[in-house]
Amino acid sequence: MEKQTLTILIAVFIGCFTPRLMAQESWIDDSIHKGLITLNTEYDFKALVSNDTIKNTSKTLKNINNAKKYFDTIFQTDLDFAVLFIENHKWNTYAYFPPPGMPQAGNGNVILGLDKSVVSKEVEKMITQLPDEYLNALKPVYGKNIDLDLFYRETLSIHELAHLYHFKKGTEPQRKWLQELFATMAMYAFSKYNCDACYEMMDTYPEFTLRSGDGRAEFKTLNDFEEKYVQKLSPQNYEWFQMQFYKNAKSIIESNGDAILAKLRNFLIQTDLSTTDKLSDAELIIRLEKEVGKEVADVLANWQYK
Ligand SMILES: [Zn+2]
Repeated sequence: MEKQTLTILIAVFIGCFTPRLMAQESWIDDSIHKGLITLNTEYDFKALVSNDTIKNTSKTLKNINNAKKYFDTIFQTDLDFAVLFIENHKWNTYAYFPPPGMPQAGNGNVILGLDKSVVSKEVEKMITQLPDEYLNALKPVYGKNIDLDLFYRETLSIHELAHLYHFKKGTEPQRKWLQELFATMAMYAFSKYNCDACYEMMDTYPEFTLRSGDGRAEFKTLNDFEEKYVQKLSPQNYEWFQMQFYKNAKSIIESNGDAILAKLRNFLIQTDLSTTDKLSDAELIIRLEKEVGKEVADVLANWQYK
């Protein structure tokens, strides 16, 4: 073969494949992987740790892999992502926001604690001062010494993974509460239909918290949530909102099953503020009812605090 012909062939070959390679380029922000150790796992997604002598990740990774299989099926995709486990003292170097150990997701990364999370420690301290009758509701699920990482890390890692399934296509939802409701509905459906051991771990702590009422929440409207979101609400107030979303998510999945999840994900993506105008509450209620389901529209229409 003449050199020139070979050059043309190579050019054609590269020409054909470049767009394809570019289309498949990863969306994962690996700039925050620098300095982390990659774990050898049997899974398709990347797992990294800030310290490989701490061995407490295998159960969590297995659970995340099961959730990936479920979410890939219902959302008809094959999502690429990385899971990072970070020690508390290195948290601020790698994570998007404090406190150490608080599960979070963005740019293709799920970030989880490698040590006991600061949130779990604080809540456990508070809870252990409660009378035995309250503690006895938690002990069968979270252990005699009450380990709330079984909720904050194990359970919430699935909520965070679910966020990546809409973040990949858009990160500016019409409302933050709607994206939170979506991630919690997805977490609920996974734990309910795909993981027997997960359900009690997911459900017991929120039900316990919901029973304790809303005395500790200073802000309660959905507008408050939009305006203040994570950083401008106290941790207790933010958790109060998340628990209200949990209550709604539970009731929506219990009465609709999981088919509604793909509709809500499509809605989040199609109405992302990067491509569409902001809808008023009245417009949002009409569109949600038509395109997703009445139960989701009702979360906004029937929110108790106006
Ligand atoms: Zn969330």
